[in-house]
Amino acid sequence: MSTTEKKQHLCNTEGCGKPAKLQCPTCVKLELKGPSYFCSQECFKQNWPNHKAAHQVSNPKATYNPFPSYKFTGPLRPVYPLSPYRKVPADIPRPDYADSPYGASKMEQTYGNGQIVCMTPEEIEKMRYVCRLGREVLDIAARAIRVGITTDEIDRIVHEATIERKAYPSPLNYYQFPKSVCISVNEVVCHGIPDQRKLEDGDIVNIDISLYRDGFHTDLNKTYFVGNVNEKSKKLVKTTRECLQKAISLVKPGVRYRDLGAVIESHATANGFSVVRSYCGHGVGKMFHSAPNVPHYAKNKTIGIMKPGHVFTIEPMINEGSYHNQSWNDGWTEVTIDGKRSAQFEHTILVTEDGYEILTAHLPDSPESQLKDL
Ligand SMILES: [Zn+2]
Ligand SMILES: [Zn+2]
Repeated sequence: MSTTEKKQHLCNTEGCGKPAKLQCPTCVKLELKGPSYFCSQECFKQNWPNHKAAHQVSNPKATYNPFPSYKFTGPLRPVYPLSPYRKVPADIPRPDYADSPYGASKMEQTYGNGQIVCMTPEEIEKMRYVCRLGREVLDIAARAIRVGITTDEIDRIVHEATIERKAYPSPLNYYQFPKSVCISVNEVVCHGIPDQRKLEDGDIVNIDISLYRDGFHTDLNKTYFVGNVNEKSKKLVKTTRECLQKAISLVKPGVRYRDLGAVIESHATANGFSVVRSYCGHGVGKMFHSAPNVPHYAKNKTIGIMKPGHVFTIEPMINEGSYHNQSWNDGWTEVTIDGKRSAQFEHTILVTEDGYEILTAHLPDSPESQLKDL
């Protein structure tokens, strides 16, 4: 709040009307002519939920922190407003949650925790195709990364590349997630909502692509560098990628899903990092998320044995500090509890007769995280 000595203004709070010299700093910054004066900090705070709307009405370019009293764990802040809900053309088939109340998936609620599906050769062909499209969209998003681009702009690019491929962006309206892709920067562990924040030199940014076509979902993600990233972050990203590779190399018929976590955790801890426990890999196909549940930490008790035709994700989230995480007030964004950074890599994997196939594998021209040795 700043004070002004010019002409007499009255407090903007309804029923107050006292002389007011304090002016809302956002109104000052935006040079708004609206009702920006308050008699006291108390009146200003009390009025904030209503008053901040004036910034939007008067200036469509104004941005704000939607939950200023939340105790943030690190330096990152949400930058609102979110852009309007993006539309998917009517001729593109939609998953069941796209138009359901609360974005709930009936199919997942009915079958999601049941038997692990063994896909038929025809289904596997469809999975290969949708996974290839997912890879193309991730690569397009990765090529857009630069200092100064907003994560909302990357969401627009992902959305358009997805619908160009006659696919539905799986995150959109999934349990009411408001955007077409999850973008998780720095201390965000997962499920970051694209907003008006501009990427900064030194950020690490994870782009998590899911899309739905011909009745099947794909799911893949990768962490990229923005400009010059510090050594610790480079090591974190490199280690996370190695964790995923080591886990994938174990995949073949007869292996227990519970055994993947041990190799991930031992590689992470050997490098001084920790493994997130509250988010896991999952079956993927006709449902976005289904059995098996695939924890990334050691000594887990998850059930299931790999069989040819199983399709699932491995997607370790590795933290610089504590493995604990907490949610922002948007109900989605998961951040580390100590504000230190977190990285993630994800592939969709098919169990074959004698091993595995990475359905979301890199293409020869896929962008790297920007480190030759990654
Ligand atoms: Zn994902
Ligand atoms: Zn996933």
